[in-house]
Amino acid sequence: MTHAASLAVPAPVQSTLPIVGSDARFPVRRIYCVGRNYVAHVREMGGDETRDFPLIFQKPADSVVQDGGTVAYPPRTDNFHYELELMVAMKSGGYNIAEDDALSHIFGYGICLDMTRRTLLETPDSPRLPWELKKSFDQSAPCGPIYPVERVGHPSAGRIRLEVDGAVRQDSDLGLMIWRTPEIIATLSCYFSLEPGDIIMTGTPDGVGPVVPGNVLVGTIDNLGSLTVTIGDKVA
Ligand code: MN
Repeated sequence: MTHAASLAVPAPVQSTLPIVGSDARFPVRRIYCVGRNYVAHVREMGGDETRDFPLIFQKPADSVVQDGGTVAYPPRTDNFHYELELMVAMKSGGYNIAEDDALSHIFGYGICLDMTRRTLLETPDSPRLPWELKKSFDQSAPCGPIYPVERVGHPSAGRIRLEVDGAVRQDSDLGLMIWRTPEIIATLSCYFSLEPGDIIMTGTPDGVGPVVPGNVLVGTIDNLGSLTVTIGDKVA
């Protein structure tokens, strides 16, 4: 082929995130997520507390919502939850990354929300079904700006806090993560080739709960600024 093939339908828009201190933007390739990564959250969800293996899933890259944006209340739920999480942004990767080498592949860090349809209405629900319907829907991935490693290092402790309409709902510490960032990267890379542009949502602490249209969510993590989104009207 010496010429670019024409596209039969419009090309998807590349999701990008702002980078603090730079005019360049970070292109989002894939969004990996880790579930049940703080003991207190595992307990509030009624799960077991074994550390056998991290619970891994993905969200689509086009589910990103920018800081300051609105998240439409999704259909087929009346129990729409926030989960505030530390976001890791990759600059390189590959398969079989050693834990000792994992941090060298990180571009930066930020704040994200793993928005979740905790309960599905009029939909079969079983532990045997995959999590896509609960986790991987439109606008389910609000993400704040990325703070490069050169500015913030590699946060392994620090306050993680979410307010809904000014009331504190989540207030914990990154140091309480069960699976630490290097372990998460090493494990993911056994199954996927991590690539530049991949982001990882590293799990939420306890205090998850429902939101309704009009709620304003403000998440903060020490040294990583804040992420603000508003819950919009029900879309369907
Ligand atoms: Mn989560």
